[in-house]
Amino acid sequence: MKKLLPTSTAGSLPKPSWLAQPEKLWSPWKLEGDQLIEGKQDALRVSLQEQSVAGIDIVSDGEQSRQHFVTTFIEHLEGVDFEKRETVKIRDRYDASVPTVVGPVVRKKPVFVEDAKFLRQQTDQPIKWALPGPMTMIDTLYDNHYKSREKLAWEFAKILNQEALELEAAGVDIIQFDEPAFNVFFDEVNEWGIATLERAIEGLKCETAVHICYGYGIQANTDWKKTLGSEWRQYEEAFPKLQKSSIDIISLECHNSHVPMDLLKLIRGKKVMVGAIDVANHQIETPEEVADTLRKALQFVDADKLYPCTNCGMAPLPRSVARGKLNALTAGAAIVRNELLK
Ligand SMILES: [Zn+2]
Repeated sequence: MKKLLPTSTAGSLPKPSWLAQPEKLWSPWKLEGDQLIEGKQDALRVSLQEQSVAGIDIVSDGEQSRQHFVTTFIEHLEGVDFEKRETVKIRDRYDASVPTVVGPVVRKKPVFVEDAKFLRQQTDQPIKWALPGPMTMIDTLYDNHYKSREKLAWEFAKILNQEALELEAAGVDIIQFDEPAFNVFFDEVNEWGIATLERAIEGLKCETAVHICYGYGIQANTDWKKTLGSEWRQYEEAFPKLQKSSIDIISLECHNSHVPMDLLKLIRGKKVMVGAIDVANHQIETPEEVADTLRKALQFVDADKLYPCTNCGMAPLPRSVARGKLNALTAGAAIVRNELLK
């Protein structure tokens, strides 16, 4: 029997201090060579064990094998020069030094497929794997070759599709694409953002998800959120087209955010990963707070389509806080599950 309200996380979880400096986003590795490969696998095992002990139903690698959710993928491709850096405004929000596209982008070898096989060997639970989405990838680069955001996005969509098909063959149950850029570039989302995402999932038989959030709890994001007013209606822009798309699951930030819950009506029929854990503070939610967010979402999402989740990744949080939040998610989901089964 399929479990009602299966829990999962949006993606990243904190790394152990022997692998990378904790509580720091995009922290560099502390190991090298074979030690790094082993270290990442050990960290994956720890992360998986923590998810299992917390009772998370759909588990992941906790993104232990990547430093950055976009650049680690791009590092494996040809056509991007990491020595040649330019400063660009990411998500229209903060300046960042990024690598340059200098020629045709090509995926000569798989990126995460070995890591996914390793995760598959470690557990019988359903596994989810996250990849960056095409629009978010192009937003994290300086393009000196295609000179067209759309053209580059289509190229990345093809590459992501190659990777996704191999991840599926490795036994991944849900492939998730992270598209925080969908919350910023509304015209592009509707003109080609969702279309390129659909190209990335072409031919997949496993489930597919898109994660759209308001970002990690870093200063630039917190400052940006302050400018968004009392009602965050960004989701309204992409939802109608996403509702008609072939994506199965939509992963959203809902807890402590100013997103009006009734926007979920616009994606009726889709499965929804409802963010019921705030990743931008260290305060651990009570199970009742989690349950409350889930109950609100249930007004607009059918119970069999609701997946309790976190707002975003938890990589920058202290490990004890992340653990506490995982436990709160499980406990909160259990409260609502019991209510539904009564
Ligand atoms: Zn996120």
